[in-house]
Amino acid sequence: MHSALEQLAADLDGLRVEGLLRARFTVDGPQQPRITVDGAQYLAFCSNDYLGLASHPDLVEAVRDGAARYGVGAGASHLVTGHHQAHQALESELAQYVGLPRALLFSTGYMANLGVISALLSRHDAVFADRLNHASLVDAALLSRAELHRYGHLDMDALERQLAASKAKRKLVATDAVFSMDGDMAPVRELVDLCRRHDAWLLLDDAHGFGVLGPGGRGILAHAGVSSPRVIYLGTLGKAAGVFGAFVAGEPLLIEVLLQRARPYIYTTALPPLIAHALRTSLKLIAQADARRLHLDRLAAKLKSALEPGPWRLLPSQTPIQPLLVGGNDAALALSRELKARGILVPAIRPPTVPRGTARLRICLSAAHSEDDVNRLGASLLELAQLLEPRG
Ligand SMILES: *Cc1c(COP(=O)(O)O)cnc(C)c1O
Repeated sequence: MHSALEQLAADLDGLRVEGLLRARFTVDGPQQPRITVDGAQYLAFCSNDYLGLASHPDLVEAVRDGAARYGVGAGASHLVTGHHQAHQALESELAQYVGLPRALLFSTGYMANLGVISALLSRHDAVFADRLNHASLVDAALLSRAELHRYGHLDMDALERQLAASKAKRKLVATDAVFSMDGDMAPVRELVDLCRRHDAWLLLDDAHGFGVLGPGGRGILAHAGVSSPRVIYLGTLGKAAGVFGAFVAGEPLLIEVLLQRARPYIYTTALPPLIAHALRTSLKLIAQADARRLHLDRLAAKLKSALEPGPWRLLPSQTPIQPLLVGGNDAALALSRELKARGILVPAIRPPTVPRGTARLRICLSAAHSEDDVNRLGASLLELAQLLEPRG
């Protein structure tokens, strides 16, 4: 083998030795609590389909209708001829829903984060980022070439010190609104206040809050009762919304600058219009989903009480992300493997996705789960606690 390939083989061996090698499941059929993998059926707590909309018949129908109206591909980027009526209508509906003046669609949340930070900041500017932020926010800061300051998770005093010490021309605080591997929330009110005092932008990545938090699932801003022209709100549409895509909402001037300058918006084919069309239906379903959101809250409470008698520790979370802290990579993998042997899928999350020594099971609840599903998970975890002697 030539040496370049040998190096790659050594890289992979390194991952294997550390228990960090990842493999994919190949799923058959739609995303729902019962999924088929390699011909076997499992009860899954893995998806971000919090409201259970990913296979909703109204969305399937809307995709059919969208295809009939718009065909399949957008055919061009938004600034050429790829911007269709469905995109335009969806942008106004999204902006209105989250209570902000204007919105811009992106193909993915990852691209939206890259787009926002790289369009607004360059050298001589600074990004202030929670240490547990999603990878896309970190990558976005690197791409922008702004200085990157990371502060301890939710540590507002550290953030304030960093903001006060910075001489950057333009400052932007970037944070997950709901932390994707922990399920806890950013203190939005304090963040807005800090940003006001230090003249900084606040980018709130609400990938896990849009559709779930606040009245009508309007997201973290509605949940916190906060509004500010400094906020750059980012919602994703492949999680609770059950489809695909993302949007950024905020002041009209901000959105216009993104439209003019965000490279992941400009230099890419527009989202298929049939997806935008289906998302308009998804937004209606989200608005009517109070019962689903209430059911989600009940499931989280159920899980907590089901685990009460055992030694497992759930991280404190009021969201459908309910991580169970394990610690070591091998222990987390073993627990995930044993659950799988009992017909239950819960992913083990390891570094670098989470800090070393905090490997965990990321239990994701969906409104499509039943209370019995959650009881079954709880009972299996208690049974395994006896077998595996958790440290938690
Ligand atoms: C999932 C996620 C993203 C990326 O969104 P996609 O639309 O899946 O690319 C961005 N930020 C956070 C916090 C996420 O959890």
